[in-house]
Formats: sequence, C-alpha cells, structure tokens
Amino acid sequence: MKAVVLTENAHLVCREVPVNEIPGWYRIRIAFAGICGSDIGRGFRNGAYHYPLIMGHEFSGVIEDAPEGGRYPVGLRAAIYPLLPCGKCEACAAGAIQQCSHYDYFGSRRDGAFARILYVPEANIIPVPDHVTLEEAALSEPAAVARHAIFSHAIPGHARALVIGGGPVGLLAAQWLRIRGSAEVTVADISPAKLEFAARLGFQTVFSPELKNREKSFEVCVEACGLNVTRNAAISCCARGGHIFLIGNPADTLEMERSVYSSILRKELSFSGSWNSCPEPDWRDVLAHAGKDLDLRSLITSIRPLREAAETFRELLNGGGVMSCKTLLNCQEE
Ligand SMILES: [Zn+2]
Ligand SMILES: [Zn+2]
Repeated sequence: MKAVVLTENAHLVCREVPVNEIPGWYRIRIAFAGICGSDIGRGFRNGAYHYPLIMGHEFSGVIEDAPEGGRYPVGLRAAIYPLLPCGKCEACAAGAIQQCSHYDYFGSRRDGAFARILYVPEANIIPVPDHVTLEEAALSEPAAVARHAIFSHAIPGHARALVIGGGPVGLLAAQWLRIRGSAEVTVADISPAKLEFAARLGFQTVFSPELKNREKSFEVCVEACGLNVTRNAAISCCARGGHIFLIGNPADTLEMERSVYSSILRKELSFSGSWNSCPEPDWRDVLAHAGKDLDLRSLITSIRPLREAAETFRELLNGGGVMSCKTLLNCQEE
C-alpha cells in the first residue's frame, strides 16, 4: 500500500510499504487524516519515538474487513480513537484510559494513518452517524480533546470566556464553551489571520498583546498555547473566583512574576489540566454535536492527496502567511 513514511527527522517520503495485518483487528480503509501541530513537531523538530514511522492520529475510514464474531460490519464508517491503553495500570483499572501510563498510540508510538490501510482493534472504532461526513469525522480527535478539557470542571452557565490560542484546538474549545452556555466567547491570538477566522465562526476576538487591557474580565480562561506569556495573560485576565483550563502543551519552562502568582491567591483562581480524551463520553458527544452546534467543517481549510504530504508539511512549516486551520490528507486519492 501507499504510505507517507517519516524515515528520519525532517524527511517524509510517500512510498509502497507492506500492510501490517493484525489477526483479530479490523482492516480500515483510511478516508481522511488530519495534520496536527504535534505532527509538525514530531516530524520536523523534536523528533519521533522511532524511525521509520507512519504518522497520523486524527482520522476516519471505512471498515474493509472485520474479524469473525466482530461487532461491526464491513462498510461501516468510523472515526478511530488513536490511543491503545495497556489495560493493566492503575489508571486503566480506574477506567481513566486517557491517563494510562503504558499506552500505545497510532501515529506516534506505532504506525498511524498517513497511509491507505490500517488495522485497528474493535474498542477503538467509533461509528460515525449518517449526518456526519468522513471529512468532519477526521476531526473527532482534536474535537474530543477539546471537549475533554472543557468538561473537566464545572463552570457557571453564562460565563464570559476567553480562549488564548486560535488554532484548531483553541477554536474547538471555544465552540464547546459556547455549547456549555457561555454568553460570550472571546478568542485571543497574535495572528490577525487567525483572529479573522475566529470572527467568521462568530467569536469575539482580541489581539493578544491587547489582553493587558482586559484584566479580570473573564470568568473562564482557556490557555491553549503553552507559553509563559499566554499562561500569565490567562491568569491576569481571569476574574475573581475564576477558572483556568490548561490545555496547551508546555513549550517552555514555567516562569511567573511574583505579582502574577500572588494574584492566583488573591483572586482564588482554580485550574484544571487535561490530557487526551475518552471514547465515552467525549467521542460520542463530538459525533452527536458535529454538523449541528459543533462546526467541524469550517475548520477544514485544505484537503490534499496523500502523495503531496511532504510538500504540504513543508508549506505548513514555512507558514507563508497563508491562513490554515486544519489540513486533511485524502488517503485514497491517487
Ligand atoms: Zn493531534
Ligand atoms: Zn494502562
């Protein structure tokens, strides 16, 4: 089959590879696979767990072959939960598989979806309802990660909310806040193009450097960048008794002015961290809301054939001023 192989850091090639057939698992013909910011880090900056690696952890497909006695039929359209829990650790025993300490993962620890075919176990198959397209279903993973974060803590019904970071996960978190009843959701970013995009989705926007004029303005803040400057801004912008959702993977070492730290105490702020997502309830809820009050379609700014993966990555790396939110690879297109 055709696959996009990361052979070493910063080197992607589209080539023929053998299909890794796994008895007892479902054979999935992959429809669409999203390129995640983490794939850019994994492929071109921080390095991967091992080489060669087929990346791709955000994807949808169709069951092409099912194991005997399997619950799902051939032809079923599916979103695939990319995490394979060990089933033995303390977190797994407690049902918190997203916190598994020895998990495997499609597209990072084992081969993933930038390919025509992938074998997956039954527990990772999430049926896609008729009203959701396979393009939209390929965004289930980031949408579920954002849902998992925003539902990790009770928040007041009509909270004024701020999301710092206008990338796909930030915009998905903003949508979940709206679904949870936030009266007004503001998205902050340093990129005018991202702010324009957020405005088109119906959000208020603020240019990040101007957040210094919005102290104590928001009851709920979401930090979706993972930088000191954005963490500190979230704390400053949070109102008395407010809550901060931390979802940005840290890109630097935590540093904080004493006065900012002190304001956490004075304002009695609370924080929640979150990691990954769970099939239940996150993925089920994503697919129930998709195409209704959860707009996944508008986040897809480009769909490219699998064979153009390397140049697509190069374009995303260079940025080039072109606005891109979510880029999908069409894994079947010749
Ligand atoms: Zn991702
Ligand atoms: Zn485990």
